[in-house]
Amino acid sequence: MSTEFCLDDWGLYVHIPFCQARCTYCDFNTVTHMGPDQHPQYMQAVTQQWMQATLPKGRLVSIFFGGGTPSLVDPPLIEKFLASVISRVGSLAGLEITLESNPGTVDLDRLAAFKEAGVNRLSIGAQAMQDHHLKALNRIHGVDDIYRAVDWAKSAGIENFNLDAIYGLPGHTLTQWQETLRALVSLQPDHLSLYRLQVEAGTPLADGVKRGALLLPEEDNVADMADWAAAILTPQGYQQYEISNWAQPGRESLHNQLYWTFNSYLGLGAGAHSFHANRRWWTLRGVRRYMLAQAAGDSVIEGEETLSFDEQMREYMWLGLRRRSGVAKHRFQERFDRLSDEVFAKTLEHLQGLGLIVNDARTVRLSERGWDVANYVFRYFVADGIS
Ligand code: SF4
Repeated sequence: MSTEFCLDDWGLYVHIPFCQARCTYCDFNTVTHMGPDQHPQYMQAVTQQWMQATLPKGRLVSIFFGGGTPSLVDPPLIEKFLASVISRVGSLAGLEITLESNPGTVDLDRLAAFKEAGVNRLSIGAQAMQDHHLKALNRIHGVDDIYRAVDWAKSAGIENFNLDAIYGLPGHTLTQWQETLRALVSLQPDHLSLYRLQVEAGTPLADGVKRGALLLPEEDNVADMADWAAAILTPQGYQQYEISNWAQPGRESLHNQLYWTFNSYLGLGAGAHSFHANRRWWTLRGVRRYMLAQAAGDSVIEGEETLSFDEQMREYMWLGLRRRSGVAKHRFQERFDRLSDEVFAKTLEHLQGLGLIVNDARTVRLSERGWDVANYVFRYFVADGIS
């Protein structure tokens, strides 16, 4: 099941850039040299940015603390920020409020305090269920910490939680991945995000792969890993509602879905991206620069772009196709006052001919075959001519 949003529903993303150590594969905007003494000033800057922001009209449906490692920030700072949200939107009632956490940074008291602060969804970065893989990725936690974090989350009364895992790691075997999936499922998460390892330029991982010190699994093996996710998760009631995301019915992440339905989001913090109407903008990436600019009352916006009408329609299509439910045609029409069948007539006909999409009276969505080559399908919507 996918969520149907109103056109003007929007989400709030808060970037917390602090980490204890840098994982070998990570190219996110994070810093490891700033300790807890810097957190209050950073959260102060984030709060200021929030208080000064022009809010989209419509309903705020989700707040997502992402990173970095948001669970490193003390719960009272999260609570204080959420109080500032209440001061502008009235109440947190009904909102999905997610906090990303590293299993090596939490305990029962801390998770209970996050819950008390208003967090009602926890995303736990498990990544692998073998200590040697976690160590190779420079994760700061072991497998035992993952089990403990889940226990504590449940004891703290956080009823909705996600586990992140990565497949296609150097030296990863299909058996290990199956073991990871089974271990994850045994923890009964509401939601699972399963990502294929991306080798990002400039990371220690990329360097190791380039030098031949790290060997990635063959493409066919990685494809098998994706298939095994379906084989293990589907009988347990999980539905793949998006390419990388699985959930028990009704536990799909609201926040992620806002991105794929082209709804607005406001990003706060260093390097955070925002999107509203036809405009996308982002803040200063440097954490110290961001804090200094905010303290000095200077603009923290580093850049922006305006999407043409055509670009908006194209993005709407390929983002929407990431969802299992696809693009609802009446939604497209509601937003653009055009018919998707007319605008993308040639592309749809071509992809249908290849058996990669299903185009019925109500929706356009990826077929089972298309699901396996989704990025290939998306490229058509980015590059093809439109009417
Ligand atoms: S904990 Fe997350 S954000 Fe921090 S370095 Fe590791 S992958 Fe990156």
